[in-house]
Amino acid sequence: SGAIIDGKAFAAGLRERVAAAVPTFVEAAGRPPGLAVVLVGEDPASQVYVRSKGKATIAAGMASFEHRLPVETSQAELIDLVARLNADDAVDGILVQLPLPPQIDEGAVIDAIDPAKDVDGFHIANAGRLATGLPGFVPCTPLGCLMLLKGRLGELAGLDAVVIGRSNIVGKPMARLLLNESCTVTVAHSRTRDLPSLVRRADIVVAAAGRPEMVKGDWLKPGATVIDVGINRIDAGEGKTRLVGDVDFASAVEVAGAITPVPGGVGPMTIAVLLRNTLVAAHIRAGLVPPAGL
Ligand code: NAD
Repeated sequence: SGAIIDGKAFAAGLRERVAAAVPTFVEAAGRPPGLAVVLVGEDPASQVYVRSKGKATIAAGMASFEHRLPVETSQAELIDLVARLNADDAVDGILVQLPLPPQIDEGAVIDAIDPAKDVDGFHIANAGRLATGLPGFVPCTPLGCLMLLKGRLGELAGLDAVVIGRSNIVGKPMARLLLNESCTVTVAHSRTRDLPSLVRRADIVVAAAGRPEMVKGDWLKPGATVIDVGINRIDAGEGKTRLVGDVDFASAVEVAGAITPVPGGVGPMTIAVLLRNTLVAAHIRAGLVPPAGL
């Protein structure tokens, strides 16, 4: 059966490399890199994410600025905070935790973030840069997936890749990254006909559909590299739940050349890449060259 790609270990390595580069930055810039995280409301999953992002930021030797706003915050108030963070020289990265409450237009808030501080890579300027193959900030989850793929496969040029999902946060930027690596990319989505036969041709499968255990082992080309982005909580009986990906791991691991588990695959990469993007933002804003090999 196939190799298991240890995202947890890979992420720990990336976090170490980021943390190791921080003292040099502090010496040159006279301040630590800073990440501001904004949370509106009390969504439990978002609270967990924001807490772990803050912890990881501090563990890397960076400054963490947490802003918690009440659920009834208006769009104008939130954009006002973003404007203050844009103007704050100690802040290199700004992350507004999604989803936002219904009275706030997410697009309007993301567009208010200075693209130079958009470490989530959601601003239209950074999305456009990725789409046109220019350097810019790339969303953390797909960039983490690309790092795992390159770590496993090295050169990706010419490989057939299928990305399942076309969200602006995962699927689309993932497809653009793979295209920039000269893969032949197919993007599948909820209206795709005959997904199994598309997957069967793929050397690389990235599953980001939010459908528990949808991709079966017998859909895969033997030896394929499978990156499972899905995080789905399912009923495990006896009042318990468990996390599964978008790939049926038990059958897929028998056919794949390598596969990421859930949990412990893509998940840990997201925060590590966020720290990496913040370090890069800090260097660029300070007029310094970002360290190579991150
Ligand atoms: P989303 O709901 O915004 O998008 C899902 C996409 O999958 C859509 O484009 C849809 O067309 C497609 N899709 C749905 N059903 C399909 C089907 N049956 N066949 C083919 N395509 C189908 O979700 P998202 O934000 O892109 O996230 C996708 C998954 O990744 C979720 O499980 C989410 O929890 C997980 N996720 C994980 C991380 C992480 O690991 N850090 C980060 C973001 C998202």
